[in-house]
Amino acid sequence: MSDKPLYKRVLLKLSGEALMGDGEYGIDQDTVTRIAGEISAAHKLGVEVCVVVGAGNIFRGLAGASQGMDRSTADYMGMLATVMNSLSLQNALENIDVQTRVLSAIPMASVSEPYIRRRAIRHLEKGRVVIFAAGTGNPFFTTDTAAALRAAEMNCDALLKGTQVDGVYTADPKVDPTATRYDKIGYMEVLSKDLKVMDAAAISVARENNIPIIVFSLHKTNALGKVLQGQGACTIVKGD
Ligand code: UDP
Repeated sequence: MSDKPLYKRVLLKLSGEALMGDGEYGIDQDTVTRIAGEISAAHKLGVEVCVVVGAGNIFRGLAGASQGMDRSTADYMGMLATVMNSLSLQNALENIDVQTRVLSAIPMASVSEPYIRRRAIRHLEKGRVVIFAAGTGNPFFTTDTAAALRAAEMNCDALLKGTQVDGVYTADPKVDPTATRYDKIGYMEVLSKDLKVMDAAAISVARENNIPIIVFSLHKTNALGKVLQGQGACTIVKGD
């Protein structure tokens, strides 16, 4: 297996929970530092990396709505929470000398640049890690959809979904010990079997733009680097 990366430009989707470590809420600095290290290793391979972070570790719009909040207001709060996660990841990356820019879909001039597609591409070309904050900027969407959308806009070669398990399984491996991992699966099969990879809108955007989704575990050391080199356990979602 060659050490050369398979992809020139990728988008990494991290759920908010990935930053939580063993805690039940918020940001665990050691975990963010570890993930920053993984991103730095991938970046050193010469891959252009952009990142979308969720906010499930802080606030989800649906949770607010279920407690009686107006859904749009709750979703805007969720998007603001992704900005906090993005800044924490930016801080951890810059601590290890990785140049970054945070681009927010909700303009927030004092803390980040506004999202401008051409500017984002320029940052990537200059070797900066670009962190897209505030999801799509629209309520009723998720950061999974934002990740697929930005991956399409940036012409990424792959969308990497870092999760708690090392791929897509026939059933939940924590519940069903006979569950097996798919090496490859088509977009439509993911949708028709309702496999929880990303939400349906995100899968559709990836499918329409022929962007493979690679699902891998964030818990294994150098998992991101390995996936970029075609090694390590993962599931690739592509084709029909
Ligand atoms: N959100 C939104 N529009 C977007 C992206 C996110 O309204 O384009 C809000 C939504 O309320 C969501 C929250 O931000 O619940 C956090 O994002 P998500 O649930 O996708 O985070 P993750 O599950 O990846 O941690």
